[in-house]
Amino acid sequence: MKGVYFVGDSEVEIREIPKPAPGPGDVVLQMKASGVCGSDLRPYRMSKSEKGDPSKLHVGGHEPCGVVAELGEGVTDVAIGDRVMMHHYTGCGECRLCRMGYTQMCLHHHEVYGSTADGGHQEYLLCPASTCVKMPDELTFEQGAACACGTGTAFHALKRLELVGTETLAIFGQGPVGASGTLFASRMGARVIAVDMVPERLELAKKLGADVVIDASKDDPVQAIRELTHGEGAHSALDATGIPQARINAVDATRYWGKTCFVGEGNTTTFDISQQIIHKQLTILGSWTFSTHGLEEVANFVVERDIPLDDLITQTFSLDQAKEAYVLFSGGTTGKVIFTLN
Ligand SMILES: [Zn+2]
Ligand SMILES: [Zn+2]
Repeated sequence: MKGVYFVGDSEVEIREIPKPAPGPGDVVLQMKASGVCGSDLRPYRMSKSEKGDPSKLHVGGHEPCGVVAELGEGVTDVAIGDRVMMHHYTGCGECRLCRMGYTQMCLHHHEVYGSTADGGHQEYLLCPASTCVKMPDELTFEQGAACACGTGTAFHALKRLELVGTETLAIFGQGPVGASGTLFASRMGARVIAVDMVPERLELAKKLGADVVIDASKDDPVQAIRELTHGEGAHSALDATGIPQARINAVDATRYWGKTCFVGEGNTTTFDISQQIIHKQLTILGSWTFSTHGLEEVANFVVERDIPLDDLITQTFSLDQAKEAYVLFSGGTTGKVIFTLN
């Protein structure tokens, strides 16, 4: 079978690899869809020397979605043929955080599928049955893959912000996570101001429900957001970029007593804590993906509220087109990009 590897220096390699067999407590999933997420760009762009021994790399992709194809000994909570999303982490399974479903925050050790274990960009994926989350019938595999990281991350960041429909939310970055935030927040009734520097992404944000879009390459977003909010700033702001200046802008565009949430990863950012945070009585939040239960929650929300998630998914590819898919995605002009498999 085929598996896609990030071999370094923005190259992907499609390798012929053996189909995995399930051990006790494991399942083998036949992949149906595997999403491309912004956080894949770090391992994709990393240099070959940082990557080390190419034979020790793992299959990429951390938004796996498919059908249970094989059961290991003792598996009773899923059955062959079940349609599932995979929560792409494992922990010890016993500590308090694991028992909450936040295995990525395991107090002892955690693995990340697509990074430290073989991920979704392959035909069959081996994983513990405990990582599988059954999908609502109405959810497509492509939608399930989106929920499995980027879209789910946006949904749970809005929950962390306790978004209120009467309020204005500014979202910095309209890649797949920020654009999902725009889609959800507008459906939750909030007024959404979407910020990006890429015209295609601003167009997509409008289509997904942004009330106003701001091109930060042309206008000062903080100034523009204050003008749109009677000089006060947004009630809440979400940074989905990880870019230091955008984080600073997100904080500065938040009004007194407001909330700013960070989901964009990486980099270091410096704030004047007194001026920018204390004297504004701000609440600063971090939000890291979601729990296994949280994955089920976002999938149900998409179905129950009839969220048009397909509008977010702008391109689909086969695994054979992995090179093309990553060149396109790393160019930064797309919405959600997903591999589909039969
Ligand atoms: Zn644990
Ligand atoms: Zn991700």
